[in-house]
Amino acid sequence: MNIPAVTLNSGHDIPQLGFGVFLVPPAEAEQAVSEALELGYRHIDTAAIYRNEEGVGAAIAKSGIPREELFITTKLWNDRQSGEQPHDAIRESLEKLGLDYVDLYLTHWPTPEKDTYSNAWAKLIEIRDAGLARSIGVSNHLPEHLDRIVKDTGVVPAVDQIELHPAYQQRDVLAWAEQNGTKIESWGPLGQGKYPLFENPAVAEAAAAHGVTPAQAVIRWHLQKGFIVFPKSTRKERMAENLDVFGFELTADEVARIDGIDPLDGSGRVGAHPLEFN
Ligand code: NAD
Repeated sequence: MNIPAVTLNSGHDIPQLGFGVFLVPPAEAEQAVSEALELGYRHIDTAAIYRNEEGVGAAIAKSGIPREELFITTKLWNDRQSGEQPHDAIRESLEKLGLDYVDLYLTHWPTPEKDTYSNAWAKLIEIRDAGLARSIGVSNHLPEHLDRIVKDTGVVPAVDQIELHPAYQQRDVLAWAEQNGTKIESWGPLGQGKYPLFENPAVAEAAAAHGVTPAQAVIRWHLQKGFIVFPKSTRKERMAENLDVFGFELTADEVARIDGIDPLDGSGRVGAHPLEFN
């Protein structure tokens, strides 16, 4: 399986396509991640709040895959951003994962009312410097939050993991990332099944033209836009389908039509808004 790599500002490479485990129940995580690794996924996206890091760790341990071939991301939950708490949080995550380091550690949400996200970012820098995370980044940060953490620390996040799919493209965040060398990770890349993406003619017709499923066409759109993507499914046939996206290429016209799905008024958003999630 030849999954393209994206080089982060840390100099480390991340597989552009991975497997996300949001809402995978703890008891099912080990099996789901084991199946994903068997199919060829090497990049796993979890978080402390998903409460399934132990299952992810068990699957990694059982797989026998050399550590350096895996790319593991986890995230600091919002209630542990203040003081020295991020240091305790990463140690707990590493213990659950059974790892000495993660490849990528993210602050999960800015939760701006608490005003602790800049402290959290400063602590992530220390965590990286201590060797516990190879690369560090943020999630759900808008340009105002990104500007603030860079002003406070001088360190630019390797990634910003944001809700991103054809109906909600967050072009202001993309522009910030482009200017600053931050890579974009798309969460909810398929609209979490909540937005009618697959029925949209731009997606359905591109899929039909290439003899692929609408989900594959959307994943391909993310890849061709340069985004890092990790769709979630606990069904093995869908995990395989979501990985089988390297045998075709959308035309520039198809990409442009899918770009046009975004209603541009924010109504395509399916998850929480970073300014309202506190
Ligand atoms: P997603 O867009 O990947 O949608 C997942 C849903 O799509 C699944 O429940 C499944 O029903 C459906 N699906 C998957 N493959 C399919 C296929 N081939 N055909 C038809 N339907 C299919 O949404 P997600 O899981 O929320 O996002 C992916 C990952 O992003 C998560 O697992 C998690 O790792 C990450 N995430 C991060 C945040 C954050 O705040 N940082 C928030 C949500 C998700």
